[in-house]
Amino acid sequence: MLVNLSDVLTVEGRQEKREIPLEMTVFEDGQGSYEITAKEPVKFVFTNAGAGKARIEGSTTLTFQVNCDRCLAEMPLILKVEFGQCVVSPDVKSGDGEDGDSCQGEDVQGMDDQSFMDGYQLDTEAFIHGEILVNWPAKILCRQDCKGVCPVCGQNLNVAECGCDTFVPDPRMAAIQDIFNAGKEV
Ligand SMILES: [Zn+2]
Ligand SMILES: [Zn+2]
Repeated sequence: MLVNLSDVLTVEGRQEKREIPLEMTVFEDGQGSYEITAKEPVKFVFTNAGAGKARIEGSTTLTFQVNCDRCLAEMPLILKVEFGQCVVSPDVKSGDGEDGDSCQGEDVQGMDDQSFMDGYQLDTEAFIHGEILVNWPAKILCRQDCKGVCPVCGQNLNVAECGCDTFVPDPRMAAIQDIFNAGKEV
């Protein structure tokens, strides 16, 4: 959805609160796509932050259908997305508004990349997509001690042991062992 922020960007002290439904049903991060199985409207607070500037704050909670990185089991990933960043009006060129910059020192990742802004309009879908990306976990595990799958037969080792000989010597350990053995022979 496109939200017009021209009032918030231009009127001092202006604040608007909106609840905006998320249209996206699938999240794609360039490596995979994940179905969104539950979502709630995104709570936005838009606040004027000086001439030509606005802060976009808010939160939402989304549930994605994902797979465990180790055992590949399907699992829900519940992500609480909280955000707070500044945007500048299209009229404001970088270098302007140095005085009383209430956005300074804060999360200014969006100051240069405002691809979610279309003039004075905020593209909430693009904005939330970016925020999901930032919040996406580096590793998704069904549980902290997920045993993964057997590299030999593919058995999910959380479910059952398969009895395969999966001992793979660490090459570094092998090197140390060689030295040790060589020492013994002398
Ligand atoms: Zn797992
Ligand atoms: Zn096995």
